[in-house]
Amino acid sequence: MDFNLSQEMELLGKVAKELAERFPPDYWRRKDRDHEFAKEFWDALGEAGFTGVIIPEEYGGSGMGLSELVHSIYNLCRYGPGLAGVWYLMLSEIFVALPITRYGTVEQKELFLPKLATGEYEGCMALTEPEAGTNTMRIRTLAVKEGDEYVINGDKIFISGVDRAKLMVLVVRTTPFEKAERKTHGFTLFLVELPNKSVSYRPIDKHGINYSNTCEVSIRDLRVSEDNVLGPVDYGWYVLLDILNPERIGFAFGAIGTAELAISRAVEYSKGRRVFRDPIGSYQALQHPLAEAYAYLNGAKLLGYKAAWLYDVMHKPPKNVKDGKAIEKKAFEYKEVGDYANMAKAVAVESSIKAIYWAMQVFGGYGYTLDMDVERWWREINLLRLAPVTQQMALNYIASNILGMPKSYR
Ligand SMILES: Cc1cc2nc3c(=O)[nH]c(=O)nc-3n(C[C@H](O)[C@H](O)[C@H](O)COP(=O)(O)OP(=O)(O)OC[C@H]3O[C@@H](n4cnc5c(N)ncnc54)[C@H](O)[C@@H]3O)c2cc1C
Repeated sequence: MDFNLSQEMELLGKVAKELAERFPPDYWRRKDRDHEFAKEFWDALGEAGFTGVIIPEEYGGSGMGLSELVHSIYNLCRYGPGLAGVWYLMLSEIFVALPITRYGTVEQKELFLPKLATGEYEGCMALTEPEAGTNTMRIRTLAVKEGDEYVINGDKIFISGVDRAKLMVLVVRTTPFEKAERKTHGFTLFLVELPNKSVSYRPIDKHGINYSNTCEVSIRDLRVSEDNVLGPVDYGWYVLLDILNPERIGFAFGAIGTAELAISRAVEYSKGRRVFRDPIGSYQALQHPLAEAYAYLNGAKLLGYKAAWLYDVMHKPPKNVKDGKAIEKKAFEYKEVGDYANMAKAVAVESSIKAIYWAMQVFGGYGYTLDMDVERWWREINLLRLAPVTQQMALNYIASNILGMPKSYR
């Protein structure tokens, strides 16, 4: 066992910290208040190479793994930006560049990866649907083959970044649920270049993360070439797992970084604030919850690093990226990635909620003002109870897939 970070992780972590410090909380206060995309931050991520950490060198990236990316994310969140440090990289690098790197054809890689690596292309992923919600199996957006094209129709909800994205990973059914042999069969992923007149969207007013739009999306008679299928037809569920697990791991690190940022601000404040004789930081009523959350956050960090390591080292896609059965087999063989991704997400988010709740309490009434930033981190962390997977569904996974308990839902 070796708990040392690799040299690459150490180096990237240092560069991420320096970059994050150039975008302190008051920058994000303004972006969130003005509902404005953080262009300066996005450009800085591109210039420093963070948009291409996992993209192979031959396509303009650094050719590293998820471990290096999530360690960067942790540092980007921890030293100023809060959840913004994971958000933009999630939409473009984890949702889009990562599956193309692992499952794209040579043509798809040549066409898209260099633009994603520099940050010229932003990305998004459209999975969630209004009717299906958490029950992803029941998505109804359908792609019907016509010659060498597919015609796609359906509605999506909560699609982040679709308003800016040049490339969307669109998750659809090519075989409807009712006709699929197994419920996980019949999914296909498409690469869709945007804007496209057949894809319209409407931003949804929301509680936080207002430096990015999340939208309702309507898809009407969208024609996509069969060359734009990402991975195999009808076996896309197993490609999707290779996005959803890194998404859970990435957001776990986003939560941990944001929570540690809030804790550090609260600790600093607590040492200077006196209302009775001693500083409020000397009161155990405030110390214990922060100390407990901090310990759990570090537990979550270990789970997250292990999840990323399993993904990078143990879980390689098969050589033939169109061989659906081989991809399905690999997904079952490397189930442990999902085990650790769900455990990391569940623990990281629960302890981050606790940390930020108590950080806000340390600031007393000032914590309720926009100027202290902690209220923004509170709004941000609340999203992670609901997405990328709800806490209940992460616990359901642990109960049925790890503990072997009967599944509580159908
Ligand atoms: C700001 C934001 C950004 C998002 N970005 C994206 C994106 O970019 N792309 C994308 O595809 N999606 C995105 N999502 C969607 C997000 O992943 C879903 O909202 C989430 O998966 C939950 O689905 P739902 O909102 O329909 O909740 P529902 O499925 O209606 O669930 C409601 C509640 O019921 C609980 N529940 C449901 N089933 C069970 C069960 N079997 N056992 C126990 N409890 C259960 C849930 O845990 C939840 O608390 C985003 C959502 C938000 C809010």
